[in-house]
Order: sequence, then C-alpha cells, then structure tokens
Amino acid sequence: MKFSTELLHGITPEKLTGSTTQPIYQTSAYYQETAEDMEKIFAGKKPGFVYTRVNNPTIANFERRMTALEHGIGAVAFSSGMSAISMSIMNIVENGDEIVSNSGLFGGTNAFFKEIKNFGVNVKYVVENKIDNFAKLITEKTKLIYVETIGNPKLDISDIKSLAELAHSKNLPLFVDNTVTTPYLIRPLDFGADIVIHSTSKMINGGGNSIGGIVICGKNFKWNSEKFTKLVDFAKFGNLSYIIRLRNNMLMNFGSCAAPFNAFLTGIGLDTLELRMQQSCDNALNLAKFLSEQKNIQVNYPGLENNFYHELAKKQFNNNFGSMLTIRLKNKEKAFKFINSLKFALNVSNIGDARTLIIHPASTIYFHANELEKINAGVTDDLVRISVGLENISDLISDFDQALTKI
Ligand SMILES: *Cc1c(COP(=O)(O)O)cnc(C)c1O
Repeated sequence: MKFSTELLHGITPEKLTGSTTQPIYQTSAYYQETAEDMEKIFAGKKPGFVYTRVNNPTIANFERRMTALEHGIGAVAFSSGMSAISMSIMNIVENGDEIVSNSGLFGGTNAFFKEIKNFGVNVKYVVENKIDNFAKLITEKTKLIYVETIGNPKLDISDIKSLAELAHSKNLPLFVDNTVTTPYLIRPLDFGADIVIHSTSKMINGGGNSIGGIVICGKNFKWNSEKFTKLVDFAKFGNLSYIIRLRNNMLMNFGSCAAPFNAFLTGIGLDTLELRMQQSCDNALNLAKFLSEQKNIQVNYPGLENNFYHELAKKQFNNNFGSMLTIRLKNKEKAFKFINSLKFALNVSNIGDARTLIIHPASTIYFHANELEKINAGVTDDLVRISVGLENISDLISDFDQALTKI
C-alpha cells in the first residue's frame, strides 16, 4: 500500500456502525455489565475501556493509525507534543542519568531539558550535528540519544541511520522527534530509531485546530537489560514493555491525556497529510530559491544545493526538504519590519499550519535562553523563521518580494 492509500484505508471503518470517520466518544468512563468483566479488564485479561484518562476508542483509533503509518508496534497519545516528549523521557530516566542530544532543538524541548536538571538528569548537547560528536559525549551514565529530524530553528539534520547504529552499539535507544518531517518524509523506525515522537499540533493535524502529541514505539530495542530498571516490572511484555509502562504508569499517573474531540479533528487532518506535506515542501523550495536570489539576505534551507545538509536530506527525506526555512536580514529592526510588511505570512509562534507562518525566534521562542544557548540553537538577532503553508506560490513570492522592498 502506498502512503496516500494507507492514510485513508490503513484502518477500516468503525465496526459498530460503519461510520467512515471515527466517532467521538465524548465520555469519561465506561460501564461494564458485571464486576467480573471489570476485574478482567483491570487485570488486562479482557480488552475494554474503563476511563478516558487511560484509553478511549476515538483516541485509540488515532493511535492505531499513527502506529501503522510509522511502522511501529504501539503508541500512546498525549495532550500536547511537550507532554509526549516529557513523558517519553521520564518513562526511563532516573536521577544521575544523562541524555545526549542535538542542539538545534525546539524551544520547549530545550526548556524541558533545563527543568529535568532539577531531577538530576543532565542533557549534553552536540553543537555540530555530526556522528563523531555524539559518540564523544556518551558515557556510562547515558540513558538515551535524543534528536529532531530537522532541528528547529537551526535546520540541522540528524543522520538517523548512523545515530541508530551508534546508539545500539552502546545499548542505548534512539529517540526521534519527527514533528517537522512526518512519516511522509521519513519513518525513523525504518532507519533504526526506537522511539518516535510527534507534536500532532503541527503537520499531522494541519489545520492548527488542536494541541496534541504522540509517542510511537518500534519493535527492536531490548528494554529488559539491567540499565532500564524502571521497566523491570514490565519485562513480561517483551518489546512492548516501554509502551505499556508509558500508558499504565506515565499517562495514568501524570494524567496528561489527549482529548477525544482533538483526536477526532487530528484524525481528519491526517487523511490529507500527503497532499499538504507535498504542497508545503514544494512551496518552501520555490520560496527558498526565490529568496536566495535576492540581495542582502541569507537563506537557510536544506533543499538548496549549497546547503551543508543537502545530500543527507535528499537521501533521508525522499527527495523532499521540509516546509521550514530561515532567513537572516542583517539586524533585528529589518527582521521586525519584514515580518510586519507581509500580508500572507502570519506572525504566529507555531509551525506546520495550512497558512504560512513567520516569527522572530530570538525575541519570542528563545526569549528565555542565554547567549550561548542561542548560538548553539542557531538563533541570531536578525533571524526569521518561516513555516511555509499551502497558499498559491505566486501570491507568496509577490508578497515576500514587496516586503523586501520595505526594509
Ligand atoms: C511544537 C513542537 C513541539 C511541542 O509540541 P506542542 O504540541 O506545542 O506541545 C515539539 N517538538 C517540535 C519539533 C515542535 O515543533
């Protein structure tokens, strides 16, 4: 089955009624006929639903679709991308552990990594995204390697296959945030990664109408070694032990569950993922080419042939290069003027919407960061991030063209 068919037919219509969209089960709890049935469901001896904080048919349908699209074996949806990230990590780390990560990270993830220092977990950052640099930072205390497929806003690209080989040679799992690329550009599990995370608020939803996140688990990692002490009690579940603990412990106890209505809306968005991703990648490439021909402007986009990551991106992302690009406009004043002069690019803090979005990262998403952190994340005072949407490309180019004359 090819990708677009899989999006629409990977999961069959709802069994109970034949409804072609997954119905919204807007309920908190589920009645069981007998106390014996309830006992069996609690003991995991009978499938069934008990309470929406832990599972819900609308959410379960979305989880199954994402599991299939990412070629995983199980998934847990969360209330946001940030809760998916934090829960996925806290599911295995303990006081004294270390994480090795790339430095071009989404601002929220960067802030979370600062927070877990308070719990004794230390994150070490690779400044230049190269495999040898990751290898150098791994110690006895390292628990996992964490990367984004395309760092946001640095746009550095992680070599997933090489990183998976490195991680596995040290018995470590590789965690990949696939938000900006989606399974249409890359299925990290096929490249050897072990855990895939999404903020479904972005491209997966596509309409910018719901916050959500999901964690998907691959089949190959051996979680049952001494190193992963938190998973000992779950050993009987084999390669599902990570994902079962994530639901039965992290989701249940921290309570950051997805909402059924959001899972419904995001599921509708998912139907058209291929069309939207392809159009925004094509638009981003055309806009990047146009901007790179203009004076007094520096363009960073992996689709440009002179980009440091061009060959890796081409090989890894199916000949696409994502919908995000950044430009440098010499100083903050020009960057602000440029943003204020655009008609079709909305000044908004997120990415991956149907509309083109633009922001000045240094004064917004990275306002909490110190100078060194900004440098490591590729955030300068004249940097502008653009998430390219689905508008007609000639309208976008003429809008950017007129805004350039204003600065
Ligand atoms: C937006 C984003 C997140 C956080 O997701 P929320 O749904 O906003 O909590 C994490 N990673 C990346 C790459 C993102 O773009």
